[in-house]
Amino acid sequence: MVHTRNEPHSTTPSTTPATVRAFAASSPTSGFAATTIRRRAPLPNDVQIEILYCGICHSDLHQARNEWVNAMPTTYPCVPGHEIVGRVTRVGRDVKKHKEGDLVAVGCLVASCGTCPGCHDGQEQFCDGPATFTYNAPDVHLGGVTYGGYSESVVVDERFVLRVDKRLNPAAAAPLVCAGITTYSPLRHWNVRKGQKVGIVGLGGLGHMGVKFSHAFGARTVVITTSAHKAQDAQRLGADEVIVSKNAAEMQKHAGSFDFILDTVSAVHDLNALFQLLKKDGTLTIVGAPGEPVPVGVFDLIFRRRSFAGSLIGGIKETQEMLDFCAEHGIAADVEVLPVRQVNEAYERLVKGDVKYRFVLDMAELKSGAKR
Ligand code: NAP
Ligand code: ZN
Repeated sequence: MVHTRNEPHSTTPSTTPATVRAFAASSPTSGFAATTIRRRAPLPNDVQIEILYCGICHSDLHQARNEWVNAMPTTYPCVPGHEIVGRVTRVGRDVKKHKEGDLVAVGCLVASCGTCPGCHDGQEQFCDGPATFTYNAPDVHLGGVTYGGYSESVVVDERFVLRVDKRLNPAAAAPLVCAGITTYSPLRHWNVRKGQKVGIVGLGGLGHMGVKFSHAFGARTVVITTSAHKAQDAQRLGADEVIVSKNAAEMQKHAGSFDFILDTVSAVHDLNALFQLLKKDGTLTIVGAPGEPVPVGVFDLIFRRRSFAGSLIGGIKETQEMLDFCAEHGIAADVEVLPVRQVNEAYERLVKGDVKYRFVLDMAELKSGAKR
């Protein structure tokens, strides 16, 4: 049954989409402006969430500025945001996992086929469907594309809604569902542990979480950075040592010594210099996603049988495991919280590397009189 605005009152919940406030980019160069978007009325398995905070991932910037034009072109208007923390305001009749008032999170995924091998293994990010990303993916409910967390509220299938433990600060927890899981998952997959020497390349939003996890897993953790001034912070975050990658002598000193390197760099950079740091059989896993191809010289891989791999966020089960691990171990992101109206300023500072270590947007001003 389809309800229209002219229908008389009924006791069944409305199926009319809601109009909610958001910040959208209208072109690669426009920056963000306030607008309104539609959100579907909750279906039986849906959770409606009032968004409290949303982190700014460098992927949001790549996507808003269409820097991934070849791999994942942007549809405008674009409302990014996949580091969402909020309160449940309504649930569909069949929802079991969540109830009104719960503190929850939504990361990069909002749907998947549920039956392919990736979904079967709890790795919905590798769904053959493919998986539906939180923004800039086809929206099967309303048409157009999905819209992310730079907005007042969102409606998501309960399978993709995560529990946030009360021990976690909601703003500092938001980046965990992208920056957190994107570093936690490969460190777990490649079994990073005590007795190993692990490099984290790039001390930004992802990198600072990678340092915290590698340290928590007991590895000797080394930050490999282009920014000498981050050395003190790196140590405070859990690094045992810092290498400034522009310093060839320092790089040479560590040649052939790393078991595992996690590369979180957002721009094209010299991968071969990093391969040389790996031991025999060592692995460099890249999660950073520059839009342009990154040149790879094969000789540094062939000699010493090194591996070069990639990794994409993490599945829902592992994301919940990571959130619970963080609550248990007192881990969260180091954040600078800004009101959502300052999103353009945050982007300019992110490009300059002027962030410690994640901007998180506060959505309070999008809702007048909302309870916090
Ligand atoms: P970010 O906060 O901007 O951090 C990136 C860091 O990379 C910077 O802090 C900087 O660290 C280093 N860097 C920047 N430009 C560089 C250059 N030209 N050469 C060498 N190093 C440079 O970004 P983020 O949010 O952590 O995201 C990082 C990347 O991961 C982005 O490309 C993003 O799209 C991608 N990502 C991938 C996934 C996935 O699932 N694979 C998920 C989320 C994000 P130093 O100052 O320490 O050198
Ligand atoms: Zn992200």
